[in-house]
Amino acid sequence: MEADYDVVILGAGAAGLSAGLYTTRAMLKTVLLEQIGPGGQLLITDEIENYPGFPEGVKGQELAAMMERQTARFGAETEYTEVMSIENIDQPVKIIHTDDRDFTAKAIIIATGGSHNKLGVAGEDALAGRGVSYCAVCDGNFFRGQDVVVVGGGDSALDEGHYLSGIVNSVTFIHRRDELRGAKVLQERAFANEKVKFLWNTVVEEFRGDQALDRALVKDLKTDKTYEYPMAAAFIYVGFHPNTEYLSDLLELDSGGHIFTDIHMRTAIPMVFACGDARAESTRQLGAAVGDGITAALAAFHDLSN
Ligand code: NAP
Repeated sequence: MEADYDVVILGAGAAGLSAGLYTTRAMLKTVLLEQIGPGGQLLITDEIENYPGFPEGVKGQELAAMMERQTARFGAETEYTEVMSIENIDQPVKIIHTDDRDFTAKAIIIATGGSHNKLGVAGEDALAGRGVSYCAVCDGNFFRGQDVVVVGGGDSALDEGHYLSGIVNSVTFIHRRDELRGAKVLQERAFANEKVKFLWNTVVEEFRGDQALDRALVKDLKTDKTYEYPMAAAFIYVGFHPNTEYLSDLLELDSGGHIFTDIHMRTAIPMVFACGDARAESTRQLGAAVGDGITAALAAFHDLSN
């Protein structure tokens, strides 16, 4: 059986789009399989300040659109579909089953990235979309002028909390420790922001509200006291997990579900590469995802040419 494509790229986030740019410029017939829309995490990120080449920063959605245009310009196809499973992954012609149809490829580049974690507390699922959110850029506007909370103390929480502070009346960070995890520059900006407050050493135990979220039961870990804290919305940024569930029987994954690769982004299976946030040891930075994607594409070109 002849493969339809030289390379099938799973995921059209920054890593996948960068890989596609390089495979198509190497004249490899390429399709990107994307579930939601090109850009991945970029689509749910407001302002990006640490991607080189944009001294004033760039909006995530703007950068995603530019990356997509650049990759498409060299002939990469994009199909909107969900990857369900991979058959014959260790054979010369690999079959990717999607919810739509099958694709066959000589090489696969896995760039399916990751998703934000849930907190896992009572009321979270029931009030998701009704005050509980995982995307400030998508939902922030609904809470213009109101008092919202951000749960978490990493880069994502600080970045998105900053974005929210430009829209809402106040942002309260609820963080389980008394020290933030995010980059120092983001911490300083949050501390200097008059609209920002902190509930330190505090965890959410339950989200509450009848029709929509209006408060949460929180616990002060220092005193063990629980009390209700009012809020119009809660934006949850408590880490990230790789989207690799469909690979668990096929590839060796670390305890967090990330795919092992060598420094050329090769997995243990010939002609299967992985890049970006789904990869073990990734620094989970946009620039790193771009670099990973390029490295994977160059390795695929090398291996397909030999
Ligand atoms: P993260 O760095 O893992 O931070 C998660 C935060 O949530 C931590 O503050 C953690 O608390 C807290 N947390 C985790 N589980 C919790 C729970 N069950 N209950 C309460 N709090 C909990 O995740 P992230 O912020 O999504 O970032 C992921 C990666 O992407 C990082 O490598 C980050 O550098 C990168 N990133 C970079 C940028 C940027 O460069 N601007 C932007 C976004 C993301 P503890 O601190 O106590 O562990």
